[in-house]
Amino acid sequence: MSNKNKKLYRICDALDCDLEGIYPAPKSREKLNEYSFFCLEHIREYNKSWNYFEGLNEVQFEHEIRKATTWDRPSWKFGTKRINDNYKFVFDMFREDTQKKKKPIDKELLDSWKILELNPESTIKDVKKKYKTLAKKWHPDKTLGLKKDIKKNNEIFVLITKAYEKIIKSFNEKII
Ligand SMILES: [Zn+2]
Repeated sequence: MSNKNKKLYRICDALDCDLEGIYPAPKSREKLNEYSFFCLEHIREYNKSWNYFEGLNEVQFEHEIRKATTWDRPSWKFGTKRINDNYKFVFDMFREDTQKKKKPIDKELLDSWKILELNPESTIKDVKKKYKTLAKKWHPDKTLGLKKDIKKNNEIFVLITKAYEKIIKSFNEKII
């Protein structure tokens, strides 16, 4: 099957899920302008486990977002818009940033495919499956406790995780 026949859509970021990821959610408190995308079920789970914005008043909310973004957007002023507009701004900013990063040949991405022992023809399902297998195999807890083994496993674990994230991101960028 050629790539053209594959249905391209952003897939849910939950590891065991291959539904469409429609709903954006900040990756962490520190990275409010980096988004994961989830299906309905997993965005509900996410919202349940991370009630971050709940209980913050508008000033606190702005402070938190500003903290996470001022390093590259110093002129961004809050307080003149309602919270929903500010949310929208973060979403738009995320889209802009993703588009800017597009490059014709991405060597890091090719390396990532090699690290996961897959190739760019592989499906996102293959990628998730392979990552799970490798992550299990190289998890630092899998050693017998020797310091050098833990260090080695840790290095490989970080490497495959970075490769996995890079590839997932590349799938998502095809859609924007
Ligand atoms: Zn899902």
